[in-house]
Amino acid sequence: NKEIHLVKRPEAAPTSEHIQIVEGETPEPKQGEVLVKLLYVSVDPYMRGRMNDTKSYIAPFALNEPMAGGAVAEVVRSEADALQEGDIVTGMLPWKEHSVSQADQLRKIDPSLGPITYSLGILGMPGLTAYFGLMDIGQPKEGETIVVSGAAGAVGSAVVQLGKIAGCRVVGIAGSDEKTSYLKETLEIDETINYKTENVSDALQKACPDGIDVYFDNVGGDISDAVYPLLNKFARIAQCGAIASYNVPNDQGPRMQMHLIKSSALIKGFTVGDYQDRFSEGFQYLSKSLQEGKLSYEETISEGFESIPDAFFGLFTGENLGKQLVKVNEP
Ligand code: NDP
Repeated sequence: NKEIHLVKRPEAAPTSEHIQIVEGETPEPKQGEVLVKLLYVSVDPYMRGRMNDTKSYIAPFALNEPMAGGAVAEVVRSEADALQEGDIVTGMLPWKEHSVSQADQLRKIDPSLGPITYSLGILGMPGLTAYFGLMDIGQPKEGETIVVSGAAGAVGSAVVQLGKIAGCRVVGIAGSDEKTSYLKETLEIDETINYKTENVSDALQKACPDGIDVYFDNVGGDISDAVYPLLNKFARIAQCGAIASYNVPNDQGPRMQMHLIKSSALIKGFTVGDYQDRFSEGFQYLSKSLQEGKLSYEETISEGFESIPDAFFGLFTGENLGKQLVKVNEP
């Protein structure tokens, strides 16, 4: 029963020296528990923060213990009334091929809502992040301009589409021509910027002739430095992520306070967990929009348990279009 352990805490980018695949025991479920087999694993940028031994909104991963995250799994043995052998479930699971979990910590997936992997993306944490960050903090109004950084990723691609549904002009920033083509051709975004080949300040000025009303920020760093001077009066900034800084200890940059004052802008950091009480509202909106064909959804899926580390590292070099997953087993 293979497991993936954190063996060393990274200072900068995570690499194979920080993670090890080890052989472990297959555990036995007790009363109220189930034994599950991993089917799909979600790799997420926030996991980088859990590799640091620092205080945050979620506890650090322990050294020489399995890493963990959102996953889809199949129940292979049940000692709980609520779940049966063969049920497909989702929840937070350790990176172990087989593991034991409390049945009440898992949610059975309704396959009529879409492919089972959607529960890790558009119908799961990233989709809800996009929905609450944009709708609650961004408060988009018809005709406004929204800029989305990390626009072709799991959260960003959902924000782009929710922004279009809200009747806004949407400008997306991403790191390859393949991604900007996807944003234009599939998501019908208004303008794109490839931050690796273009001068972001110049390109933003061209793409946002009426300034920026909403900034949904997934990346921080230099890209955000280029956005702030273009904020309109009463702009809103949903500070979702800062992936440009996750691998840079003590990252510093130009100051943005004056730009916030000049524009009377509101900036709010958030984690999706802040909206736990409203998850069913977000879930209903996203599943209805999907069923009505209003949302398009892309996944990049690596194959095999042993490819989990590389799929995770690839988030920091932009290997993924849409949601990055790893397929471990067939249901
Ligand atoms: P993505 O699917 O967007 O994958 C990460 C992407 O980030 C990469 O594909 C890459 O795209 C981009 N990226 C990586 N390094 C850099 C860099 N140095 N500068 C600019 N872009 C970079 O991940 P998610 O959609 O899951 O997450 C997006 C962001 O939202 C992350 O910052 C994450 O931490 C945050 N988040 C926050 C949540 C919350 O509750 N607040 C919940 C979920 C996610 P490219 O090729 O364009 O560079």
